[in-house]
Amino acid sequence: MPLMDADQLRRYLEFYEDIGIKTLYRRTAPAAPPATPIPPAIELPSLAPAGDTLLKIIADIGDCKRCRLHEGRNKIVFGVGSENARLVFVGEGPGADEDAEGIPFVGRAGQLLTQMIEGTAKKEGMDLKRADIYICNVVKCRPPDNRTPEPDEMEICGQFLYRQLAAIKPKAICTLGGTATRAVTGRKEGVTRMRGQWFLWRDIPVMVTYHPSYLLRQYNQNAKREAWEDLKKVLHFVYD
Ligand code: URA
Repeated sequence: MPLMDADQLRRYLEFYEDIGIKTLYRRTAPAAPPATPIPPAIELPSLAPAGDTLLKIIADIGDCKRCRLHEGRNKIVFGVGSENARLVFVGEGPGADEDAEGIPFVGRAGQLLTQMIEGTAKKEGMDLKRADIYICNVVKCRPPDNRTPEPDEMEICGQFLYRQLAAIKPKAICTLGGTATRAVTGRKEGVTRMRGQWFLWRDIPVMVTYHPSYLLRQYNQNAKREAWEDLKKVLHFVYD
């Protein structure tokens, strides 16, 4: 593995902080300190290799068995949309429909997301289709019984989300629900408090909103209205 320079190391550590990991351990204790201090040489994989592309990321994921989620998956759900998309939506992880098809957000929640994107765009006079946007998840394999991904699963798969976002370099990112919001912003507050506000991933603005599955619950009419407001904000920011 290549050695990292100070800037790569800083970005690497920021990435772990963003996905909620605050403590890292060195594998071996250092020997007696050298007489002349030298910069730390830590072997870590590069986060986003120069010239990275979505195809290279897919190739690197391969037939992934890096975490336990591979055991129950049918298909890896990498992401869908254009590498040139100006807006990226990030969800939590594939459900049963996504696992069967290999495409994110194709089940009930996905249909609602599509309606929300296309319906809001139309109402706001924008010629925008779901296919113009890039959609992916924090983890690429379906967690059993649709449970929330575990921190180690998010850490392992998070490197690929990082590379997807870095390769696409969208004008804005919209996180759907708590898991995506924590992974992308590194913040711990609930979505109810964070929604409708801008945060940052590197230098890219991030809008936080509710997960469409949450909106599917009957009693969440108010949340639905709020999600539409959030979406309007992000669409105008990106496409005006
Ligand atoms: N929920 C998600 O978070 N992602 C999907 O792809 C589908 C449902």
